Amino acid sequence: MTPHVISLSPEYSVTTEQAEKLLRLQRETLEQVALGVDYREILDSLCKTAEQMVSDSLASIMVYDDTGSFLTVLAAPSIPPVAIEVLNGLVPSEHAGSCGTAVHSNQPQYVTDTRTDRRWCDLQSFVDSFSIGACWSCPIKIKKDKAMGSFALSSFEKRAPSAFYKQLLEISAHIAGIILKRQQEEQSFQKLAYYDALTGLANRTSFNSQLSLAIERAVAQNSQLAVFILDLDGFKDINDAQGRNIGDMVLKWVAAKLQSALTEAHILARLGGDEFAILVKYPDKPLTIEPLVSRILALFKQKIPVAQHEFSLSTSIGISVFPDDGQSAQNLLRNADTALHEAKKSGRNCAKSYNEKLTHLVRRKMDLMTDMRAALINADFILYYQPQFCQKTNKLLAIEALVRWQHPEKGLIPPNDFIPIAEQSGFINELGLWIFTEACQQCKKWWDSGVPYFSLAINLSVKQLNAENMQKFEDILIGMNFPVQNLEIEVTESLVMHQESLHELKKLEAMGIRISMDDFGTGHSSLAQLKNLPLSKLKIDRSFIKDLTNNENDKVIVKTIIAMGRSFGLKIVAEGVETVEQQEFLVEQGCDLIQGYLLSRPIPPEELENLFDQL
Ligand code: C2E
Ligand code: CA
Ligand code: CA
Repeated sequence: MTPHVISLSPEYSVTTEQAEKLLRLQRETLEQVALGVDYREILDSLCKTAEQMVSDSLASIMVYDDTGSFLTVLAAPSIPPVAIEVLNGLVPSEHAGSCGTAVHSNQPQYVTDTRTDRRWCDLQSFVDSFSIGACWSCPIKIKKDKAMGSFALSSFEKRAPSAFYKQLLEISAHIAGIILKRQQEEQSFQKLAYYDALTGLANRTSFNSQLSLAIERAVAQNSQLAVFILDLDGFKDINDAQGRNIGDMVLKWVAAKLQSALTEAHILARLGGDEFAILVKYPDKPLTIEPLVSRILALFKQKIPVAQHEFSLSTSIGISVFPDDGQSAQNLLRNADTALHEAKKSGRNCAKSYNEKLTHLVRRKMDLMTDMRAALINADFILYYQPQFCQKTNKLLAIEALVRWQHPEKGLIPPNDFIPIAEQSGFINELGLWIFTEACQQCKKWWDSGVPYFSLAINLSVKQLNAENMQKFEDILIGMNFPVQNLEIEVTESLVMHQESLHELKKLEAMGIRISMDDFGTGHSSLAQLKNLPLSKLKIDRSFIKDLTNNENDKVIVKTIIAMGRSFGLKIVAEGVETVEQQEFLVEQGCDLIQGYLLSRPIPPEELENLFDQL
């Protein structure tokens, strides 16, 4: 790019010193371009240099937005953001201030008094608010006859530009044009190299590189990710029968629909033809595939309205998961492709995982999701209760409500099989409300009939900790006159980490309900963080109890948790105690309560009544 000084008309007579200044401005700016400095930074420094050359001046660069209908401020380092906000959206016309008029007419506009000049008649409130006296603006030209924006110098004072200033404006506008054109070219090159021209989605190259990056990140974070490859079923028939134009329109429709079903956690690409790919990142928890699979399959249930036709299509999906099904982008794509062939073979319009077991799980989970709503209506959920005993007196002090699903065909389903799905689908709110009501009613009934008080512990998932539920819980408790001092809510560590959840937890505390930290030791919170939480109990996760008597490491962990927890004034519960040896160790360390198969499994309410003599 050679510096290029615009040829000057005779009226532009400037001194040698001024001419040198202008040359230096050009040279320095174009040097920055050559060095690859970010274009916004270059435009900012161009504005600043121009401001230094003209006393009491504010430089600004405006350009057309993407749709080409109005102007927005691209650079204006000395203009306050409030003023920029007002200028954004300026529609070029004959009286759109100096800049709008310059772009409209493709000619420089030197307004010496903004209060009296008709070009500024629509912008008088702007003049008043920001005390603009004069504004000189030059179009930034893309082609000879078309402006893409403007370069302007404004001042508080009313004044006319000297020959030198006019020249400074024209040169600055010209350089800004070079920079912007180069930027546009770079952008369109990027688009060609990384985007699919038909749909605007990422292309195969871009998908590969994003997948590789995501793998690196997943390794660092020890997390999973999944690759979906989608191939439309029956697209070839549409293309053959209707022609390529219509085929292309169908592909665009599919691209837009898929995009609408995805979030920031997904990257959608068109690999070519009627093949699409989705990269699914799991920042924290595994297996969030199923809802996405059903969302995608559901998209194709609607007819595709294209050019007065209505087409029906479905899609087959092949899935591979990192790290189980491959460690590199190449392997993951290949294995997702293998899974896709499986999906095609088994009748299309379905998803297959490279790992067949997983597919089975996907199916099962999707079925369960549908069955769950019916189960609540049919009263197929039931509550079991597992007692917690005082280690000193062997008395029954508390019970934990644990939900089960009595499925009409599949039998008794444990909560680990359906709670995560209920959480994903949002159904946990309704189910959780039922659990809460049922457990409270059951205990209230016992107490009202003369059974001595004990604590009732109810589990809450992260999804349940919101203002709406808290209000409902409060209403339920008040409605049945529940003695809240006997109620405990069990939450897990990850849940407590969020500020918002903490706020809801504090509401529970304010109602007089105690909070107990479940599965302690498996999350990421340090013991020190516990001080900030409204806790009264700590439940040591059963994974530490399992090998307690053989594993020295676990012994140290459990000892530390007990000692630290007690120093914060918390009661300590050990869960999953199955042997006498485990119990003895825990008792020795000063653990307060014991819960586990050794003393009692979770049992239905009728059976629990047999234990009431231990209260
Ligand atoms: P959790 O809160 O950690 O519940 C304790 C789990 O440990 C229960 O499994 C219980 O049956 C099991 N367990 C108790 N003692 C022993 C033992 O000695 N050995 C072994 N191996 N296991 C023992 P369950 O009932 O299958 O519940 C699993 C998880 O499901 C619960 O873990 C909890 O996270 C969730 N869950 C259960 N009920 C509810 C509920 O009502 N609401 C919510 N949100 N989650 C629930
Ligand atoms: Ca629990
Ligand atoms: Ca637990």
